[in-house]
Amino acid sequence: MERLYDQSSYEKEFTASVTGCREGKGGRWEVTLDRTAFFPEGGGQPYDTGILGEARVLEVHEKEGDVVHYTDRPLTVGEKVTGRIDWERRFDNMQGHSGEHIITGCIHNRFGYDNVGFHMGKEEITIDFNGVISPEDLDEIELEANQVIYRDLPIQVIVPSPEELSQMEYRSKKELTGDVRIAVIPGVDVCACCGTHVASTGEVGLIKVLGMIHYKGGVRISLLCGRRALLYVRNRQNQVAELSVLLAAKQDEVCAAVVRLKEEKERLEMELSRLRQAEAEAKAGAFPAQGGALAVFEEMEPVQLRKYCTMLYEGGKGEIVLACARKGDGYLYVLGSASHDMRALSKKLNACLNGKGGGSSLMAQGTFLADEGEIKRAFAQCAGEELE
Ligand SMILES: [Zn+2]
Repeated sequence: MERLYDQSSYEKEFTASVTGCREGKGGRWEVTLDRTAFFPEGGGQPYDTGILGEARVLEVHEKEGDVVHYTDRPLTVGEKVTGRIDWERRFDNMQGHSGEHIITGCIHNRFGYDNVGFHMGKEEITIDFNGVISPEDLDEIELEANQVIYRDLPIQVIVPSPEELSQMEYRSKKELTGDVRIAVIPGVDVCACCGTHVASTGEVGLIKVLGMIHYKGGVRISLLCGRRALLYVRNRQNQVAELSVLLAAKQDEVCAAVVRLKEEKERLEMELSRLRQAEAEAKAGAFPAQGGALAVFEEMEPVQLRKYCTMLYEGGKGEIVLACARKGDGYLYVLGSASHDMRALSKKLNACLNGKGGGSSLMAQGTFLADEGEIKRAFAQCAGEELE
C-alpha cells in the first residue's frame, strides 16, 4: 500500500483500486486500497474522515501493517475509486500537530524537557512534559512559539539513511527501526514523526496556550492551534462582551465587577439572615409561655426552621415543639424538647405520617408525607401520650 500522506500532506483527492473489503462490526465495512491519502490514527494525531467512491469513511486505522478504512457501505474489490479526505478536519490536525512540534521544540530547547505524552482531543490538544515550568515561563514560551510562526520556517520531512540517522540528534519517544521519518523545523525541532504537517510554520497561524496543570511529576499543557485557536479566542471574546453588557462594566474590568457583585451578595445575605433571625424572634416571642405541646407551620428554610424550633422550646413556649415547613408534597419537620426524648417521638410520628428522619434526644428532623391537619392530629395524640 502506497501512503500518499507520507509524500505530501496536501493530497486531498486521489484514485485507488480496492484491494479488500469485508464486513466488520456495527454495520461497518473494512476496506483496503493499493494507495491512500487517508491518514490512520497514529502518533497522537486523529484519523482522517471523508469519501471513498459512494462510501463515507468513518474511521481509519493501522492494522497489521495495512491502512484499513472503516466505511458505511461495501466497495467492490478491483474497482477504481476516488477518495476525498475531509480537508477541514485534516488541516486542523496538520495545524495542531505542527504546532505541537513548535511548542515542544521551544520547551525542549530551553528546558531540556521531553514530550512524554501527546493527545489531540475534540476540545483541545494536550502535551505532557517531564519537568515543571512556571506560568511566567509558559507565557514566554507561547510568545516564542508564535514568533516561530511569524518567521514562517519550512517544515521538512526527510527519511535519512541509517548512517545519516546515527549522526543526527532528534527527539523520539521510542527506539525506531527501518526507515525513520524525521520532521525538521530548522533551529526549532528535529523529531521522528509519522504525522502530517503543514509546509511552513506560518500556516499554523496561531498557537494559544489554554492552561497548565501539574501532572506525573511534570506538567500537562493544553493548547489550540490555527483555526481552532481562532474560534476559541472568538468564543471567549464573545463571552467577555456579553458579560460586559450584563455587568455594565468595560470589557477589561469584568473581573473587578464580579468581585463587587460577590461582595454585594455576601452583604445582602448577611442582612437577610439578620432580618430573618429578628423576624423569627418576634414570632417566637408572640407565643405565650406554656408547658404543653406546640405545633407551628411556617415558610422557612431548614436552617431557619431548626433555629426557630430551638427558640420556641428554649423560650418555654412548649415542652415539646414541632415546627413544620412545606416541602414538595409534604412537610419538612423539626421536633425539639429540653425534657423529652425526641428520637422516640419522631419514630412514632414517622410511622403515622409516612415520615422519614431522626436525630438526637434534644432534636429530631425529617419529612412527613401528610397534610397539615393530619400532622396536627397525630402530633396532639403522640405528644400528649409523651407528656402524660
Ligand atoms: Zn509530527
